[in-house]
Amino acid sequence: MFYSQLLTLERSFSEELLDKADCYFSGLSADARKTISISRVATHLQCSYIESANFLKACIEINFMHKYFVLCCPECGHIIKRLESINDIKSIEYCLCCEKEFEKDEFDSAQDIEIRFEIIEDAPFEDGQHCIDSKKMKESAGAVRPDSLQFAWKHGLLEIGEFYSVPDDGSDWIARAEAIMTTRYTSSTEQGNALENLTRDLFNQCTCFKATSEFTTKLNQIDGFVIVKRYFQGNFFDEIGSSFYVECKNEKSTPKNTYLSKLSDIMGRAGCSFGVFVSKKPAPKTFRDICRDVYLVRKQVIICISLSEIIEMLENQENFMDLLHRKYIEVQHNANKNLKELGIMQG
Ligand SMILES: [Zn+2]
Repeated sequence: MFYSQLLTLERSFSEELLDKADCYFSGLSADARKTISISRVATHLQCSYIESANFLKACIEINFMHKYFVLCCPECGHIIKRLESINDIKSIEYCLCCEKEFEKDEFDSAQDIEIRFEIIEDAPFEDGQHCIDSKKMKESAGAVRPDSLQFAWKHGLLEIGEFYSVPDDGSDWIARAEAIMTTRYTSSTEQGNALENLTRDLFNQCTCFKATSEFTTKLNQIDGFVIVKRYFQGNFFDEIGSSFYVECKNEKSTPKNTYLSKLSDIMGRAGCSFGVFVSKKPAPKTFRDICRDVYLVRKQVIICISLSEIIEMLENQENFMDLLHRKYIEVQHNANKNLKELGIMQG
């Protein structure tokens, strides 16, 4: 065997598959060894996409490969660049192939970000490589492309925290959050907007979400909604649903119990099973019981986040996706302790 590391996978994969893999990888050019994909491995090893994904996941676990992401042109599928993380998209990106600029919003993370693998050997990556089969695969309507981020997520190649990027300008964010705590705004609208905008921006730091604070409905009795559209399916995202509401309360006083029932009603009308309540002051203890009841009776999960928790998260450069996930689990299981403090979850 050329790559003897593969022998450590003997227990999980057949000898035949490992031989084919060794033969395939050793025959690749140095560049091709850095751009391995789920679809091509499946073709060469004559296995399913799921088996290919599982095999590549195992290759990562034994430190034979590592994974990375590429940004593809939304029009032609050409690889624009290698991404350091799935959130590493600039406000304007340029496709050499189409000779066209694209705004960040034009990229659909589930479709236009793909996962690649490289055998661990060191050499720089050449940008602007052609993505041979991506365009063809995009045309196969409805099917989840095996190299897409969606497929990678569904088959365990991504951790939930990878959907969030810790802001580079963390101190600016902390300053914004602290200003909401202390600044006296000239109008209550301005004050309310500051918390809404901070919350919206936090959700937009997550590749999987697209948040807006411009969303209102006629039935909407309370202000400050952020609607979040989902791009992904599978695991946690299946539980939170395709979109959800975020309610922000900027009051100086402790939030009232009725806010939760109002949010739950609005969620019920929209058929949403997940909601987020963000408040300047921490939620009172009664909220835990109300959230529990709402979950038992209506199967809705409402999580509460206070401004001081946001500040703490930013200060510690913690992960917002992990925080959402942890709070979700806490409500679902009626946890009476913080699962991060118990060392069970992150965030
Ligand atoms: Zn293009």
